[in-house]
Amino acid sequence: MTVVTRFAPSPTGLLHLGHAHAALFAERRAREAGGRFLLRIEDIDRTRCRSTFEAALSEDLAWLGLSWETPVRRQSEHMDDYTRALARLEAGGLVYPCFCTRRAIAAEIAAAAAAPHGPDGPVYPGTCRALTEAERRARIAAEIPYALRLDVARASRWAEPLAWTDRERGEQAARPEIFGDVVLARKETPASYHLAVTVDDALQGVTLVTRGEDLFAATHVHRLLQALLGLPTPEYHHHRLLAGGDGRRFAKRDKSLTLRALRESGRAPAEVRALAEF
Ligand code: GLU
Repeated sequence: MTVVTRFAPSPTGLLHLGHAHAALFAERRAREAGGRFLLRIEDIDRTRCRSTFEAALSEDLAWLGLSWETPVRRQSEHMDDYTRALARLEAGGLVYPCFCTRRAIAAEIAAAAAAPHGPDGPVYPGTCRALTEAERRARIAAEIPYALRLDVARASRWAEPLAWTDRERGEQAARPEIFGDVVLARKETPASYHLAVTVDDALQGVTLVTRGEDLFAATHVHRLLQALLGLPTPEYHHHRLLAGGDGRRFAKRDKSLTLRALRESGRAPAEVRALAEF
């Protein structure tokens, strides 16, 4: 089977050394297997993404010496794919509207004796899961804004038991419940990261998902979504996050370590590749 990997940045700023590490990692895994390397632009959140950053990232990756297949998939151009996936989950009764504001959720968690914590913080207490169909209809009719959440307990009952494999850490039993009922869509972002990434990796035929270990736990949710949507499960390889000399991981705020700044300071592509090496 041909190995297909991808690098999937969000164009919300300039790429830094950590991104170069991720891109080179994905490209290398494809090249060493005689496979294919793709670039995907994760630009669903229109409030944070800029086309100037997309142009800059393509230029910076090419300068580093990377090449990828065209056309590049841009998530904002494929909203229908995510809407269709969401409709399928809704038809299966696995999704419910949640009318809670962030503030109401925080208050409810603060008042609870014990609130379970997931990888992204406190887990949604499930308040709106218990609403009746009539209550849901009334609130939607009253135009109260809502998010769509996955009913993870119901979905897991339907799909279990699931597993996935990480090249580094081996076989993992899927534990999507650690995140609670994740949001799959909101008015301003009609497809969440979890939904879009799962649909895209399948549609693009990605066979090996490489990404930073900060997203390791998210794969539990992606594995469940694959099962619910009848999508294939790729292999995974979560890699360490490149850290600076002070041990802190790189982030978009580290302006001096953007590929752009390094290039403008006279560094050659090979030098920057070495800095981002693994
Ligand atoms: N777009 C995500 C990010 O910039 C990466 C998505 C993924 O590799 O699954 O962190």
